[in-house]
Amino acid sequence: MALLEVKNVSYSYDKATRALKGVTFNVEEGEFVAVIGHNGSGKSTLAKLLNGIYKPSAGEIIVDGFSSADKNSVFEIRKRVGMVFQNPDNQLVASIVEDDIAFGPENLGIPREEIGKRIDFALKAVGMEEFRKSSPTHLSGGQKQRIAIAGVLALKPKILVLDESTAMLDPQGRKEIAEVVETLRKSGVAVIAVTHYMDEAVKADKVLVLDRGVIALSGAPKQVFSQKTALDKLGLELPLSGIIADKLRARGANIPDDIISEEDLLGALWKL
Ligand code: ADP
Ligand code: MG
Repeated sequence: MALLEVKNVSYSYDKATRALKGVTFNVEEGEFVAVIGHNGSGKSTLAKLLNGIYKPSAGEIIVDGFSSADKNSVFEIRKRVGMVFQNPDNQLVASIVEDDIAFGPENLGIPREEIGKRIDFALKAVGMEEFRKSSPTHLSGGQKQRIAIAGVLALKPKILVLDESTAMLDPQGRKEIAEVVETLRKSGVAVIAVTHYMDEAVKADKVLVLDRGVIALSGAPKQVFSQKTALDKLGLELPLSGIIADKLRARGANIPDDIISEEDLLGALWKL
């Protein structure tokens, strides 16, 4: 059984808006899944369904064996699926980093000594150990977002959902979050990242493309990003390396069709 099973899930805010229609996919332990799609395609709705903020109007979500269809499972699902949103300033609650991270575990009634261990673990996971006693207001956007992630990791989730968590960050901040995602993936935490940066999606194990509430395309990044015509129709760009490869091809360079990452592009350039 997969860690997360989304089975034929639909969600309506009201009769007029069906935000998701028959969405189905699985996520395994330690898997990194990117969710892309233009504005209003249903990405945030999906994110909120995954951790039980919303309940499917139809279909079922099973997290680590706990079903959204079972009323008593909501708490178990929320414990297992952590969420980080777009604006780090809205997610930090305390004036000292360690207090901020302790906030979630304290609310769950976790003993003091264990909370100390969780703070150590969470700060290490996001590479922010030396900021334990700092004030979040003095941190960069990327550092604040890493603290927001640490606050969620302190609850020991099996799945981390990031809803455009890099949208407000500069390139350095985005790089920092990408490194955290890589660390989590290696440690077995699954990451589901909603993003509009194709260069982040390229690094995923699997990409889901949402369009008007349905999964229009899905698969490994190479499979998804080699479908240029389909992506064009969905109003989505290629990753930067794909755009460059396209331009070079248009000028007659002999470059293969499936160039989506920097490494691919460099490899192809060396062969010219
Ligand atoms: P995305 O995150 O991809 O931009 P959303 O999941 O936010 O998309 O929105 C999907 C659809 O649901 C859109 O048509 C949007 O207008 C609608 N929607 C989102 N939130 C609400 C809400 N709270 N009430 C009513 N409709 C909503
Ligand atoms: Mg959104």
